[in-house]
Amino acid sequence: MALLLIQCPRTGRCISTGIETDPDSFDLPADGPKTVQCPFCRKEHVWTKRNALLVDPNKWSDVPEIEDCFIKAVENSERAASAKRAADRDFYLRMERKWLGLADGFRWIADLERRHG
Ligand SMILES: [Zn+2]
Repeated sequence: MALLLIQCPRTGRCISTGIETDPDSFDLPADGPKTVQCPFCRKEHVWTKRNALLVDPNKWSDVPEIEDCFIKAVENSERAASAKRAADRDFYLRMERKWLGLADGFRWIADLERRHG
């Protein structure tokens, strides 16, 4: 399953619509544009299938620090995939794991903070 995101036009951050869907049969009900409350700029954003993004729910978070780590991890994984030398590929794969580890650390902190209230 993939998580449906839209981008906040003010902050550029991605926001979860709370909808999970099968990327292969991605289709929205025909009842027109939807709205989502944006946690970053506190406004309501209207979205349609056209400006929705699909992501792996395990590689996305609404905590900005975690999202940044996932973005870095994806960048490094793409660099590893296009690296010509084995040493470069190893380096980028190692960086990808570091960023994913950092994301886990931030998630751990965010969970603690949430539980603390
Ligand atoms: Zn917003």
